[in-house]
Amino acid sequence: MQEFSVSVSLLCPICGSDQFKCDEEAEGSIICADCGYESFRDELVSDNSEQIDAEELCGEVKEQLEEKMLKSLQQLFKGSTSIKVKRGH
Ligand SMILES: [Zn+2]
Repeated sequence: MQEFSVSVSLLCPICGSDQFKCDEEAEGSIICADCGYESFRDELVSDNSEQIDAEELCGEVKEQLEEKMLKSLQQLFKGSTSIKVKRGH
């Protein structure tokens, strides 16, 4: 049985470790490198759904802030033909 370690952006629900081992023979199964908690990737994703939601929320807030800044900048340069404010990527 060959094992290799991977670092994923998921946390073990038991010990909070972010180090997991993949078991090549049991496809889709990952094992916590610290406490040995065995889980399927899909289960672990749902266990971490709160954390993932929080990350999405942060991105949304940032987006809205940028939108606000862009609008106030556009307001500032309203009527100006030489300066155009464009949304950066
Ligand atoms: Zn663990």
